[in-house]
Amino acid sequence: MSMKIGFIGLGNMGAPMATNLAKAGHDVAGFDVAGTTAEGVRVADSLEAAVAGMNAVITMLPNGSILRQVAAQAIPHMAQGTLFIDCSTVDVESAKNTAQAAEDKGIMAVDAPVSGGIGGASGGTLTFMAGGSEEAFANAKPLFDIMGQKAVHCGDAGAGQAAKICNNMILGVTMIATCEAFALADKLGLDRQKMFDVVSTSSGYSWSMNAYCPAPGVGPTSPADNGYTPGFAAELMLKDLGLSQQAAEMANADTPMGELARALYAQFVENEDGSGKDFSAMLPRFETRGRNG
Ligand code: NAD
Repeated sequence: MSMKIGFIGLGNMGAPMATNLAKAGHDVAGFDVAGTTAEGVRVADSLEAAVAGMNAVITMLPNGSILRQVAAQAIPHMAQGTLFIDCSTVDVESAKNTAQAAEDKGIMAVDAPVSGGIGGASGGTLTFMAGGSEEAFANAKPLFDIMGQKAVHCGDAGAGQAAKICNNMILGVTMIATCEAFALADKLGLDRQKMFDVVSTSSGYSWSMNAYCPAPGVGPTSPADNGYTPGFAAELMLKDLGLSQQAAEMANADTPMGELARALYAQFVENEDGSGKDFSAMLPRFETRGRNG
């Protein structure tokens, strides 16, 4: 059944997601403050026009404070029973507050951050990790099935964001560990291909090593083979590691490795040459360093 969908935030991720919904036969109206558009998507000339009279509203925005602003402006124009899906990666508190504000107006809210990056967004192969009621998730599922290949209902409001930042904390830590191990192997005279052959089939294996190897010419094709052009940018990894530390503080969780990974990516992005590079460019960073920097 064709739905009327408002899509807010037509950036790198949002535009191809909105296009996939339109291609599947939905009537999609898009709005972005930067004036960006998406193939097959009608342009709404205001946020209000993009949300009023819709069956579902989807947001794909840079951060939690923008989400809160957009939600505060949009919710009063949304009818009771509308489905509100936020796919941005934001802090758990913003996800919970937004869901509460929506539910107070009889709007069904789902926080549904994604993994799979720009390739997954255009290919319709994203993974959604969702938080919200059973009913809201069941209503959102057909839309997740168009934009992605897997959707996991993780729990109540905020649970999708919790799953996302825990996953990306593991990713940040394992990528750094993989890069520093390659740099150590270099200095021990170990061939990188041999290092990959052993680790990728031994207990040091991980997604960072096996699927996204940071060493050029080794393992599957990855951003390392393309001069570390992102892929997944180091600044986005820094954002997600910051969100995991913010959540850890709120929940009084001890996360020393996550904090160290955040500090290393902050150093890399803010004080070194990591900005604009893929997050696996930690390998050339470690290559050039000794024990005292
Ligand atoms: P992006 O910066 O390309 O897109 C965000 C869009 O939101 C921009 O076009 C911007 O103009 C628009 N926007 C900002 N404020 C707005 C407002 N008030 N009203 C309407 N539009 C507004 O970012 P992206 O790469 O598309 O990422 C979006 C979200 O997805 C982020 O939360 C990011 O962390 C997450 N994410 C990104 C990736 C990735 O690989 N790019 C992967 C997974 C998750």
